[in-house]
Amino acid sequence: MPERQQEQREVVVIGAGVAGIYQIKRLVDLGVDAIVLEADDDLGGTWYRNRYPGARFDSESYTYGYSFSQELLDEWHWKERFSPQPENMRYLHYVADKFDLRRHMRFNARVAAMHWDERARRWQLELDSGERLSARFVISCIGALSIPTPPRYDGVDDFQGQAFHTYWWPKEPVALEGRRVGVIGTGATGIQVIAEIANKVGELYVFQRRPNWSTPLNNAPISEAEMAEIRARYDEIFANCADSPGGFEHVPDRRGFWNLTHEERVAFWDELYRQPGFAILQANFIEIFADEAANRELSEYIAGRIRERVHDPEIAEKLIPKDHGFGTQRLPLETRYFEAYNRDNVHLVDLSETPIERVTRTGIQTSEDHIELDLIVFATGFNAITGAFDQIDVRGTDGRALADKWRDGPSTWCGLLTHGFPNLIMVAGPQSVSGSTNYPRAIEAGVDWVTDLVAHAMDQGLTRIEADADAERAWVEEVKRAHERILLRRSQGWFTGYNSNVEGHEAGKVRYVAYFGPAPKYRARIQAAAAEGYPQLHLD
Ligand code: NAP
Repeated sequence: MPERQQEQREVVVIGAGVAGIYQIKRLVDLGVDAIVLEADDDLGGTWYRNRYPGARFDSESYTYGYSFSQELLDEWHWKERFSPQPENMRYLHYVADKFDLRRHMRFNARVAAMHWDERARRWQLELDSGERLSARFVISCIGALSIPTPPRYDGVDDFQGQAFHTYWWPKEPVALEGRRVGVIGTGATGIQVIAEIANKVGELYVFQRRPNWSTPLNNAPISEAEMAEIRARYDEIFANCADSPGGFEHVPDRRGFWNLTHEERVAFWDELYRQPGFAILQANFIEIFADEAANRELSEYIAGRIRERVHDPEIAEKLIPKDHGFGTQRLPLETRYFEAYNRDNVHLVDLSETPIERVTRTGIQTSEDHIELDLIVFATGFNAITGAFDQIDVRGTDGRALADKWRDGPSTWCGLLTHGFPNLIMVAGPQSVSGSTNYPRAIEAGVDWVTDLVAHAMDQGLTRIEADADAERAWVEEVKRAHERILLRRSQGWFTGYNSNVEGHEAGKVRYVAYFGPAPKYRARIQAAAAEGYPQLHLD
């Protein structure tokens, strides 16, 4: 189609999730001609899709919500400390309606390809409908966990019962009562689902390949009075989050692990175990992340808690990770998860002993048993962080494919831009702090930075922005250094780019997908870059 007939935009934002909603708000306020293209038929991203039973925040609700509008902060009442998925969707709709953002969003608009046109200095985008449009700048808000990865077992398509990935949990109610349900996967998602449905199904079979550490979420309702206190404290809450390494209110303990006695440490952990959310990780001694002996002692403490909660000692041992220390993979938080295994209708199938051989028409065949099932839930994770980029045929200067550039792992400048792909600006991109910290706090900082860059471009009449190759190399080295400093480097999870269901992402191949340095340090770095006139970028 000739260019003059195409829809032309100054900015296209891809994705109407938590990041895209705030990004379009900022662009509209700036008076920029911008539109959001959303593949799905509604806004909400991760919260629209992940409607499986038990899905809820594991960040404190009032640290998850947007901070940009005092009115919004004053109006919204978070009903629970860790708000559930339906309420989260109500919130995101409320925000979109309040700021009249929906009219800047186009749904069922999946971007299939975007090719850089060096002559025009514009991105040419094509939707899967075949529709084309062009944009000066593309801002990706496509989600770190938006490409679900079902397992690659033989026979998956033969199963005659109901089967789906948790990300695709149907909108219609799913019958659970009296049914034989299998859940494959025990990450944060599997742990939430299992705990929630254990007492609602007939029989529940948990297919566990490797156990994860998990600690209590300690959720609670938020009364009107408590919400009033939270509202009065919002400035302080967001300042605390901004100051902390993980973007939470929980502050690391710096008394020194080895300065205390074992008994003092245990007393401290008893207290943390009762605290909400990620306190057990974020408010713990900083040594637990890098000092093997410190991490081992804490892991043994948490293992003791699991042994206390699970009645059958053999089952308890199977639920305790032996291949990685506590907090060295993304920590799932739970509500009576371990107690589920005390129920007669819940059966743990340890795939390390009896691997799945295939899915059959009526169930799952392991090396030992055939388990008859009515419903199989795949809680098997995502092609994380770079997966959503790989779905789009992104071609940069000289027609180079982004998927090729990132084949062995992403390479970016601060997760915001990548050399060879001018005017593609990423919110919560690979090698930013987003994945490794309280997500929305990092998103807001990212959107603010990106918006300032767009404003700068408008102001200066810039039409081309590209990351400098050397600056990018230096950032990747920094990302690797931060990764090497912590015990997480030896673990196997999406934080280290592992996914057994994606070719090239299997165990043993580290992909440096996230920055594990402290969020304040990261933010200071990108803010300094802006203040200095973006020396790491070529602006033209
Ligand atoms: P995940 O952490 O990647 O866990 C996937 C699980 O599936 C692992 O236990 C994995 O076992 C297992 N698995 C994968 N393929 C398998 C196969 N072929 N056979 C058997 N088991 C298989 O994915 P997730 O649980 O969906 O969580 C992803 C992320 O989403 C979380 O880390 C978190 O950041 C986010 N999340 C957040 C919340 C929240 O509370 N806000 C809730 C859910 C998820 P192996 O380890 O052996 O591969």
